[in-house]
Parts: sequence; structure tokens; C-alpha cells
Amino acid sequence: TKTIAVLNQKGGAGKTTIATNIAHALVRDGFATLLVDADPQGSLRDWNAVNGGELLPVVRLDRESLAKDLANIADGYDFVVIDGAPQIAKLSVAAVKAADLVLIPVQPSPYDIWACADLIDILEARREITDGKPKAAFLISRAIRNTKLSVEIVEALNTYDIPILNAHTTQRVIYPTAAAEGGTVFSIDPKGPAAREIIAIQRELMEVLH
Ligand code: ADP
Ligand code: MG
Repeated sequence: TKTIAVLNQKGGAGKTTIATNIAHALVRDGFATLLVDADPQGSLRDWNAVNGGELLPVVRLDRESLAKDLANIADGYDFVVIDGAPQIAKLSVAAVKAADLVLIPVQPSPYDIWACADLIDILEARREITDGKPKAAFLISRAIRNTKLSVEIVEALNTYDIPILNAHTTQRVIYPTAAAEGGTVFSIDPKGPAAREIIAIQRELMEVLH
């Protein structure tokens, strides 16, 4: 089982959007995939309730024992995707502990990038006691289409020693529209441009995990 933890202590970064869409992409490729709601706010559970719990398996593990509890549950799954909690450092520590890969969605704004510092500290503390695990990558979230990332944004991201995925999500109405229906972009437009950006992210994640 490979575990991807989608983390950023900033709310609105795109964690739940990325977690649900990536998990659905993996399921569509035939991988048994479990979504873990590690956010006490329970966005993933709300989303799952709207679709009648029928799209993807979701479990609630918003507690410090997440890594240990998950070890028992994850058996038989190819992938686990953790939707992380904002703000609560202890839950980020727990999710980092459970992860093979920490995926950090970040909006291309300096405030959002600076706000990652605490999470990166948690990640580095973990790496010190595990010989460099887990892996990590930034994912640009909600980029404006047809604009290049500014030099300032790239430089701000480069102050952290963490790679930035080439693939990214752009600002598209289909993301909240799909979420409101308890679905993903694949539920609405499986061959559309948003689905293609999610598939590109999925492909890059597979490379990073290998
Ligand atoms: P988080 O889980 O980090 O708090 P969400 O995934 O809930 O972030 O995203 C916050 C809001 O932004 C939600 O309403 C979501 O639908 C919307 N959103 C996320 N990604 C995009 C996108 N690429 N385009 C448009 N809206 C988005
Ligand atoms: Mg969320």
C-alpha cells in the first residue's frame, strides 16, 4: 500500500479537492483506493454523504493515532489518500507519519507559500528520525490559466528544499460543482480539461512514488 497524505495547514489550499479527484482517478485505473478523512471538520464525510457513500470508500481517522490505526485498515488497498486537517499540528504530525508521500497543494500566492513553513518543519523533524522519509512534493493549486508562475512565486517555493510537480490544477468551476454533487471532475466530464489535469498529476505522483 502506498499512502499519499494531502497536507497544508492552510484552509482552502485545495486538499479535499485534490484528495477526492486523485483517489477517483486511481480507482478508475483499477487501483483499490481508500480515502481517509483526517480533518475534524469532516468535509470528506460531508462529500461522501451527498453521493450516498457509493463513489469511494471513506474512513474517518482524525486522531493522533492515525498512523497506527491506518496500518490495520489499509490492508488490501493499493493506495490510501489522506485528506489532512488545517491548523492542528498534532494531526499533521500523525498524517506525515503515515505517509509515503506528502503532497502539499499550495495556491500561487506568497502568503500561502510562507504559511507552509510549519508543515515543512514537521516533515523535516520526521525525516530526521526515519532516514529521510516520507517523500514530499508541492502541487500548485488553482493556478490562473495561461499565465506563467512568477519568478517570485518560484523563488518563494524554492526556499523549501521540496520539488514542485509540473502538473497543477487551474481555477475551474467544475471543481466546486462536482464537489457539491458528491462527485469529482470524472463524474461530470471524464475527458474534459479538468480531468486531464488530474490525470497529469496522478501520472507524476506515480513517478515520484517509484
Ligand atoms: P481545503 O481542503 O484545503 O480546505 P478545498 O479543496 O476544500 O481546500 O478547496 C477550497 C475551495 O476551493 C472549495 O470550495 C473548492 O471547491 C474550491 N477549489 C479547489 N480547487 C479548485 C480549483 N482548481 N478551481 C476552482 N475551485 C477550486
Ligand atoms: Mg478540506
